[in-house]
Amino acid sequence: VICNVLCVGTELLLGQIDDTNSTYIGQQLVDAGITSYEHRRVGDNPERIEKALRDLLEVSDAIIVTGGLGPTHDDITREVTATVMGAELEHDSAVLENMKAIFARRNREMPQTNLRQAMVPKGATVIHNHLGTAPGLMCPVGDKTIYLVPGVPHEMYPMVTDTIIPDILSRGKATAIVTRTIKTWGISESSLAEQLDAFVQAGETSDVKVGFLARGMNGIYVKLSASADTKEQARAIIAPVEHEVLAVLGEAAYGFDDDTMESIVIDLLKKQGKTIAIAESLTGGMLSSRLVDVPGSSDVHMGGVVSYTKAVKHDVLGVQVRDVYSNECAEQMAQGVAKHLGSDIGLSTTGVAGPDEDNGHPPGEVFIGISTATDTIAQRFLLGGDRKRVREYTTITAFDFLRRYLSSFNLD
Ligand code: ATP
Repeated sequence: VICNVLCVGTELLLGQIDDTNSTYIGQQLVDAGITSYEHRRVGDNPERIEKALRDLLEVSDAIIVTGGLGPTHDDITREVTATVMGAELEHDSAVLENMKAIFARRNREMPQTNLRQAMVPKGATVIHNHLGTAPGLMCPVGDKTIYLVPGVPHEMYPMVTDTIIPDILSRGKATAIVTRTIKTWGISESSLAEQLDAFVQAGETSDVKVGFLARGMNGIYVKLSASADTKEQARAIIAPVEHEVLAVLGEAAYGFDDDTMESIVIDLLKKQGKTIAIAESLTGGMLSSRLVDVPGSSDVHMGGVVSYTKAVKHDVLGVQVRDVYSNECAEQMAQGVAKHLGSDIGLSTTGVAGPDEDNGHPPGEVFIGISTATDTIAQRFLLGGDRKRVREYTTITAFDFLRRYLSSFNLD
């Protein structure tokens, strides 16, 4: 079954709102194993909506259309769809009752303009909207269906998941699509593509497709996807390829699917029974904030110090070295924060966020330190990008440095 998506609304074209509806519907379709080849956006113009619907009908078994079901004159999706169906609009008393009930609950009188929303193309089935006035509509066109849903995301979500997806599935055999995401840090996207080229090439003719997705401070993802009759079969096809890809990636692979770098670090700390404290200069609290994002981080994360100035590095953390852009400074920050906050491990960041160089140190020159009861180490990194990127890359680089350290040593 092929289901494509059409989002109606001039504000989508003007960049006034993000088209999160397509993203949501796309995810629901993939999860249900329904193929989708095209997501389009069109303004509130009857000729162009009609053309988009007719074009999409030629290449789809079903179309989900969001937006343009409201009461105002520019909401015309319902009327245009009736034209495409070759059907009259009829008054639907159940829809009118639902609307009246909603206005009564809000203690407001229903404007006459809302009556338009009770008009339903002949032959269409209503999907009741318990959260708003615009009903969803299932509109048959021959053996195909156009599903109309409101643009308001929280009104649209339950209609798609509870009614439309099951309806599409009941019409034909779906293909199960499984995607496995391997998350990496430390290898550039071009180098990843080179190292995994054989798998990408093989994917052209085999069932397991390999792709890349750069996700900024979350690293670069390697995506393996396969389609088969069932999810189990698709997983079984992916498994051996995943095994081989992991062997090529080595230490650069830090997690899978929903893992984040910080959730992996927290798991490692929990397994080893160690606590951490963080001293940050250029990252200004980002590391602590990312750790706190992970539920249960309080088991291992004791706290942090944002030691942005030289004075705070010296007075609060006991940094003695003069050059704040050095491995020694990162080491002393890590030692200082572990000592003062009483943690097993200290992790630190210092360096030049940019945009300008500082005392001969270029933007992106960063030092990361780790201190434990037995060991203190630091490493210099040269990171690319503007100020925001440098700070974000420093954050993931610091966690990655700690992850590799924790994976290679058992601190006991
Ligand atoms: P209503 O009954 O509220 O008028 P509607 O079906 O007419 O709903 P629109 O008027 O097109 O929908 O959009 C209503 C609101 O829904 C928009 O202001 C916007 O905030 C949101 N919205 C519409 N389309 C999208 C989209 N594709 N992605 C995310 N949000 C959207």
